Amino acid sequence: MENCIFCKIAKGDIPSTKLYEDNDMVIIKDINPQAPIHLLLIPKEHYANIIDMSEAQAQTLAKCLKKLGSMASELGLDNGFRIVSNKGSDGRQSVDHLHVHILGGHPLSEVMG
Ligand code: 5GP
Ligand code: ZN
Repeated sequence: MENCIFCKIAKGDIPSTKLYEDNDMVIIKDINPQAPIHLLLIPKEHYANIIDMSEAQAQTLAKCLKKLGSMASELGLDNGFRIVSNKGSDGRQSVDHLHVHILGGHPLSEVMG
């Protein structure tokens, strides 16, 4: 997808701090962290959000989340974490390429909305 910042990050055309990469996804550090650990899981395939997601993309995303779970310890998330995927204007999504925020590294806010 032309002019999509996360497609460019996934391809390596825009630099990022990549902590993990495979055929399906990259996990990078968020440029504007909102917790001591704030990562983004970005599927390599471009689609905007979970409503636009195909069955095959849903299966790939599930595989990515399973992999994330297996990496929690090496990512410093032994004490727990929160995953969030914003959608649309009420969800305050700012990049229209599906991504999952991974937040942790301290006790997170009790308020989610
Ligand atoms: P959204 O608001 O769409 O849920 O989340 C987009 C996230 O992407 C934000 O947390 C923002 O800080 C992050 N972000 C935007 N541009 C870049 C970038 O160029 N590099 C990295 N690493 N993160 C970015
Ligand atoms: Zn994209």
